[in-house]
Amino acid sequence: MKAITVVPGDPESLQLDEVADPEPGEGEVLLEMIVAGICGTDHEILEGDIGYPPSGRDRLVLGHEALGRVLAAPPGSDFAPGDLVAPIVRRPDPVPCPNCAAGEWDMCRNGRFTEAGIRGLDGYAAEKLSLPHEFVVQVSSDLGHFGVLVEPASVVAKAWEHIIHLGSRGQWAPERVLVTGAGPIGLLATLFATRPGAEVHVFDRASDGPKPDLVRDLGAVYHQDGPNSTGEEYDVVVECTGDADLMAAVPGVTKPNGIVCFAGVTDEGRQVTVASDIARAMVLENRIVFGTVNANRRHYEEAARVLAQTDESWLRRMVNRRVSLDDWEEAYTRQPGDVKTVIEFPDAAA
Ligand SMILES: [Zn+2]
Repeated sequence: MKAITVVPGDPESLQLDEVADPEPGEGEVLLEMIVAGICGTDHEILEGDIGYPPSGRDRLVLGHEALGRVLAAPPGSDFAPGDLVAPIVRRPDPVPCPNCAAGEWDMCRNGRFTEAGIRGLDGYAAEKLSLPHEFVVQVSSDLGHFGVLVEPASVVAKAWEHIIHLGSRGQWAPERVLVTGAGPIGLLATLFATRPGAEVHVFDRASDGPKPDLVRDLGAVYHQDGPNSTGEEYDVVVECTGDADLMAAVPGVTKPNGIVCFAGVTDEGRQVTVASDIARAMVLENRIVFGTVNANRRHYEEAARVLAQTDESWLRRMVNRRVSLDDWEEAYTRQPGDVKTVIEFPDAAA
């Protein structure tokens, strides 16, 4: 079968490869791939900055955002041939640590987890795939191909769950939320933030392209002129850019008891320095800054639920560049106006 592979650490190594078909083991589902998404993490792997191949190999099958169709399911699983599913990225560490043992592998304590298409485990940009049925999440047929967004949305579902958990240390009903960055994660964060009815503001530098309307169509306010252009403060900030200056600035635009969630990774070596007056205000008014990464099964299920309730035309404008597997190289070349780029596998139209 065909698969897109890369040698992690070698920026010239991306290719469409011929690899062996998967042979499902006991308890595994066999999937045919329909759509695979591309995100910033894939580009970091392509640039040679991150990623590890499976042990004993040079090449890694890329891809960790995917929607597949079940070809065969093991007895006793919740799946049947024809079901649409999203595969989960992270697998528990082998020890396992207390969190991985409890299915909370997104909170792994020893760092020995693996991640499909990123770290020690083949990814999902392949025509077929087999994996344990516990690491596959049902996607409703109404959501269809947009189920490729379940993985990036799972990251946001986790972030929002943790924000609610932290906010609940006191009386809490967030009225104003700020999202910085209107890329796929920022837009999905906006989708989650608008659901409880909060007033949501989004800051991004883009003045044209699809982002401003994607934000406004969720009922949020788009700002191009800085995170605090209104002069008002926020109960919650979800920082999705990884920009060191923004990360340093956003704790200063929160209300008392405010929560800042860092969901974007800053470049290695860049310093994020919180000014002493902001640090003082964090203590005196109970502010929190926390980071979040990855997601567990519960978050994937929540993501699939929320996306299934989302307007289809919005999802269509979000997944705004679709490239066929034959033209796979184009998919990995960034273009102006890209929001989410996906690769469609040969039977995607079926
Ligand atoms: Zn663990």
